[in-house]
Amino acid sequence: MFGVVPKVLWSRVYSSDENNLIVLTLRSLVVETDGHVILIDTGWGDKQDEKFFRHVYLHDGEGLTEGLERRGYKPEDITDVVLTHLHADHCGGGIKRNVGGTGYELTFPEANYHVSRTQWEWAVKNNVREEDSFLEENIIPIMDSGHLNLVDEEGELFPGFFVRICNGHTPGMMIPVIKYKDKILVYTGDLIPTIAHLPVLWNMSYDIESLKTIEEKEIILTEALNGCYILVFQHDEHIECCTLEMTPKGIRAKEKFAFSEIL
Ligand SMILES: [Zn+2]
Repeated sequence: MFGVVPKVLWSRVYSSDENNLIVLTLRSLVVETDGHVILIDTGWGDKQDEKFFRHVYLHDGEGLTEGLERRGYKPEDITDVVLTHLHADHCGGGIKRNVGGTGYELTFPEANYHVSRTQWEWAVKNNVREEDSFLEENIIPIMDSGHLNLVDEEGELFPGFFVRICNGHTPGMMIPVIKYKDKILVYTGDLIPTIAHLPVLWNMSYDIESLKTIEEKEIILTEALNGCYILVFQHDEHIECCTLEMTPKGIRAKEKFAFSEIL
């Protein structure tokens, strides 16, 4: 998760166990606007077998549909699923096995699934570097369902709900930027997966083009600093949100808080 950053440095800010494993969350977000109930990202899902998950060590968490239910949403209530990108830990929960196990179906049957065209075409073509992460069963059933909407460019997808497109982690990753009351939230996805990834050089080795990630982070962090945006972290075990400030070392976290404090 920290690429070329030595463990002696990253372990001071993100703890690991004796096997170098760190705990990451798969934090999805629901946004309601203008009659839309939008779900951002869907976690791993549960289609694959134990062998697939043997290096992942899934534990804890509410589960996707269970977590939604606890907040009053049934799968049919979701009108839109926005997938930042098609890596398995971001989109897998959007597709489930059908009754009888003969094939796959949408977990959210009424929803349109939004993916950037660049990411879709990249994922369908696949490549040796990302093939463990682009799984046919997570991707093709979306197209077969007729519910796929390909997003061609950055902009406002729904009222107050914008997407930015970044290409360093994987081509066409969408970063949602959401106006909420008097605030602006950035769902940082795999661009800034945890608060420890705020330094522009602290990036994942999963990134396809690290120089692009550095450039894209600088742009978004500068804009977020100037606009007093709130960052929402998808993968950070402890910190859900933060604001930013400029320090002699660069842009860093100012206040850290739980998502519930925004609502
Ligand atoms: Zn990813």
